[in-house]
Amino acid sequence: MSGKFEQIGRALREHQTFAVLSHVRPDGDALGSQLALGLSLRQLGKNVHIWNEEGMLEKYSFLPQASLLTKPPAQPQDVDVVIALDTAIQNRLGITVAAIKSAKLWINIDHHPSNPGYGDVVYIDPKSPATGQILFELMPNQKLPIDSAFAENLYVAISTETGSFQYPNTTARTFEIAAELVGAGVDVGRVSQLTYENYPRRRVELLRDLLGTMRFDANGRVASFSLSQAMAKKLGVLPEDNEGLIDHLRAIRGVIVAIFFEELPDGKVRVSMRSKSERVNVCAICEKFGGGGHVLAAGARVKGTLAEVEKKILEEVCDAVSRSS
Ligand code: 5GP
Ligand code: MN
Repeated sequence: MSGKFEQIGRALREHQTFAVLSHVRPDGDALGSQLALGLSLRQLGKNVHIWNEEGMLEKYSFLPQASLLTKPPAQPQDVDVVIALDTAIQNRLGITVAAIKSAKLWINIDHHPSNPGYGDVVYIDPKSPATGQILFELMPNQKLPIDSAFAENLYVAISTETGSFQYPNTTARTFEIAAELVGAGVDVGRVSQLTYENYPRRRVELLRDLLGTMRFDANGRVASFSLSQAMAKKLGVLPEDNEGLIDHLRAIRGVIVAIFFEELPDGKVRVSMRSKSERVNVCAICEKFGGGGHVLAAGARVKGTLAEVEKKILEEVCDAVSRSS
């Protein structure tokens, strides 16, 4: 580990211009990690671009220095180093890749087991519950600057990616890091309220409609619901509104796999899966459909109508659930 950290730390110190990128449909781990690393590099006096295909999401706009994270420019730029965070495959960086005219070095920092290790310097720790946790280990180890804004961004990254420190990937180390972040100035009550108790009303209206489509398969071990384009239009929902709604399905007793289907405008369906058992590896299921992720949380974008994709996916999942028992 320290050899790789050494290599990354040296690259961060030696170069001047950076682009810090992460995946499309970003979550708290993606955006919080991007801002935290970007802020640290700025404190070192570096020129830093923090780009995400979608720019800053409204719901994470409370993150310290959120306005530094923008959509990529139309005009490609030369940078010294590109750092891809939390992004299992390069094409999930979306249109940000096209904004890089040239780069001397690509660094890939991630915690997805399905990451094939693209880039020149690669650090992947699939045991780490969040990319934010890796950054917390890296930055102080390399004596890179951290402050309260850095701490709050990382706290949100780790809190959201571990389901508020509840998912099985949460370790003793995760709590130690959380404690250190609180020590560095994070106001837990304030940040938690902004993260979890500040949803727009349309998100809950969406949940009401989604629950109307809820169904159970495999004797109640598989639960799913679906968001059609028509429903999304009717409610005026943003793509970011549905992050975490799948947790309502996984919270049901007896459910092993929860699935969320979202019809996209491009003739594909975004499939999001959660498993409550190591014996049902949803990453492996999603990989069959060109997606990926983690053993207990994965996703894919599958061509077809909502009904077609639901049928195909449910067959695979029910099969996997039956084989596991
Ligand atoms: P979510 O369901 O929250 O969108 O994603 C859960 C996990 O699956 C995340 O770690 C994410 O990186 C991964 N994931 C989601 N969608 C895709 C996809 O289309 N392709 C790949 N490779 N991974 C995905
Ligand atoms: Mn992550």
